[in-house]
Amino acid sequence: MNKEVIIFSDLDGTLLNHKNFSFDEILVFFKKISKKTIIVPNTSKTFSEVKKICEDSFLNNPFIVENGSAIFIPINLKLTLSNKLETQEGYYKLVLGSDLEDLIKFTNLEKCKKFTSKCSFLYKMNIKELKESTGLSNSILMNSKKRDFSLPFLWNGTKELFEKFNFIANSHNYKILKGGRFYHLIGNVDKGKALKLILKIYKNTFKKKFLSISLGDSPNDIAMLENTDYSGIVKAFSNKKLYLKKDKNVFYSSIVAPKGWEQVLKMMPPIKKIN
Ligand SMILES: [Mg+2]
Repeated sequence: MNKEVIIFSDLDGTLLNHKNFSFDEILVFFKKISKKTIIVPNTSKTFSEVKKICEDSFLNNPFIVENGSAIFIPINLKLTLSNKLETQEGYYKLVLGSDLEDLIKFTNLEKCKKFTSKCSFLYKMNIKELKESTGLSNSILMNSKKRDFSLPFLWNGTKELFEKFNFIANSHNYKILKGGRFYHLIGNVDKGKALKLILKIYKNTFKKKFLSISLGDSPNDIAMLENTDYSGIVKAFSNKKLYLKKDKNVFYSSIVAPKGWEQVLKMMPPIKKIN
């Protein structure tokens, strides 16, 4: 392994354009970088969605799904893994989050009723309703309904009521994350914890330290952006600026995805060196 850099990248709004979910505009740059670094998708998307993106873009790397809930590692990479792991469609599966059944059980608790009455859960909505409220295409919606470790929902209540719901979720060791469009009720996981585990696996396998870069655009990326050597924030479509506790090696793009992905990476010294 002569690669030295691992890039953890959010997908929606960071690599993929907010509207058409494409990164064709920067394909030449992406291919060049993917040959010289290890690009690890770290997203709220599901296994089947990310697997397809990896196949389409010839990425044979680990990836993190559903906001840090699980890590999938191609079996053929032969990375050093400590436990006997479950496999799924050519990948090892490391689960860090809570499964769907537990999450649904929690939302059905009596004390959650006044909050869940203000939630439109994706798994309960039909495609027609979903299309109306998100404007997304059928195939994208079908895929995002198939989740294993998080319950996405649209919130129709007040901010105050939401805070109370979040508090109850926390007291049950769950949390609510805000993504680009949806809120996600998930286990006590985040993109940062999962990222650290992948860095550890690479360090153990190759007996060397890898330089880490993270790229994100929204609040659910903060735990990832705080935990790498270099952090790139792609301008959000919503124009909301993200602030990190760390201030060293933090870079901001002035344009949205996918061009912002290329712009912010090109600002970073380790990428300048290999580009
Ligand atoms: Mg995003």
